[in-house]
Amino acid sequence: MQKQKDIIVIGGGAAGFFAAINIAETHPKLSVAILERGKEGLQKVKISGGGRCNVTHAEFIPSELVQNYPRGAKELLGPFHTFMTGDTIAWFEERGVELKIEDDGRMFPVSNSSQTIIDCFLFEAKKHKVEVLYNHSVKSIKLCHAEPVEASQNNYNFKISTSQQEIETKKIVVATGSNPKIWKLLEDLGHTIVPPVPSLFTFDINDKRIKGIPGVVAQNVDVKVIGTDLFSEGPLLITHVGMSAPAILKLSAYGAVELAKLNYNFEIEINFIKQDFEDCLSQLKDSKQELAKKQIFGTAQFDLPKRLWRNLILASHISENERWADLNKEQLTALAEQLTQAIFQVTGKSTFKEEFVTAGGVDLKEINFKTFESKLIPNLFFAGEVINVDAVTGGFNFQNAWTGAYIVSQSISDK
Ligand SMILES: Cc1cc2nc3c(=O)[nH]c(=O)nc-3n(C[C@H](O)[C@H](O)[C@H](O)COP(=O)(O)OP(=O)(O)OC[C@H]3O[C@@H](n4cnc5c(N)ncnc54)[C@H](O)[C@@H]3O)c2cc1C
Repeated sequence: MQKQKDIIVIGGGAAGFFAAINIAETHPKLSVAILERGKEGLQKVKISGGGRCNVTHAEFIPSELVQNYPRGAKELLGPFHTFMTGDTIAWFEERGVELKIEDDGRMFPVSNSSQTIIDCFLFEAKKHKVEVLYNHSVKSIKLCHAEPVEASQNNYNFKISTSQQEIETKKIVVATGSNPKIWKLLEDLGHTIVPPVPSLFTFDINDKRIKGIPGVVAQNVDVKVIGTDLFSEGPLLITHVGMSAPAILKLSAYGAVELAKLNYNFEIEINFIKQDFEDCLSQLKDSKQELAKKQIFGTAQFDLPKRLWRNLILASHISENERWADLNKEQLTALAEQLTQAIFQVTGKSTFKEEFVTAGGVDLKEINFKTFESKLIPNLFFAGEVINVDAVTGGFNFQNAWTGAYIVSQSISDK
């Protein structure tokens, strides 16, 4: 006989497990199963946050929290009033997982291990009788009726084919992350898929000014992408192949679509000291007077790291042993330019290892954000990265998964 379930959750990742557990706990009479294509689930949770799982971010005001979502800010404002950071902390705490806040606001399990989150989910799924079917790759989703039928009539709305079997179900929660095959199936059902592009990546830059100084951090810089409105600020890290850290990662997220169109070849302008050119030049002139006899190399200004200061000096045609008094007007101007308007050519992107996500997915206009249900197909719900929501680094991507999944669990009726 064909297998039948009240609720099928497709995808055993962060959003899928969170949805299934909360549905089963809230509606104990409903039969709930997760279909996961892998032989294990929660693989991204496992590697997340460098193996520590950055579960959420200590930001407790919904209007502030949404600022971290280049796509989805407007739509998530309402949902965050229902379930956000504090609720996430409480949810895990009630199930024996304590979270801690780090200096930058990121929150991790106290154990510092993503396995704690996985163990919690597997335990809760078992406790609430969620059936987890591994090695079940979903191949097709078909509507059983031309018109949706009241679930209470004991009618099944969908037929799902997996690599193993066919299953009928009344409701589906799609939580497949950024999986192109499922997006294609959803497109066939009439949904619009915003084309996926990578978000959260670092910039490849081959430039003498940053050669040989990986690990150097400029604490607070402005970066803009020349020829666009894209701008960001924050710490900047020089890597072996280019630049990273929040100033760059935020640009990669907010500019995900635009930078893809530029094929990751563009120029950026960096202000390393967040001062305008004229102020900087005037300060350099003062230093020329005050530090006249000192070598410019040994007297880094503007709290810049010494090695970066050195490279910017060299780029300004100032040699190793020159003293402040020796600097001419052109050299001072060139140095002020390097400090406040340094241009770098970006030639590609690299993966940011801590966390990377995909922008794109189910068009937000086609989702009811009070329920996370499709506006086109009744009884079809979404949670997590499958929808066109993504965030900057810091635990916000998981918060989107928890919020959507929780709201789905509350909007599903007992019928
Ligand atoms: C290296 C790395 C580190 C990260 N670290 C963090 C972090 O610390 N904090 C943070 O907030 N975010 C982090 N992220 C982002 C975060 O992992 C994702 O936003 C989050 O996992 C999305 O959850 P999801 O459930 O929507 O998708 P996923 O976690 O990707 O889960 C989707 C599941 O669906 C399954 N699936 C796909 N297609 C099918 C199919 N056809 N049939 C059946 N099953 C299917 C997949 O196998 C998978 O198990 C990180 C991402 C990466 C890659």
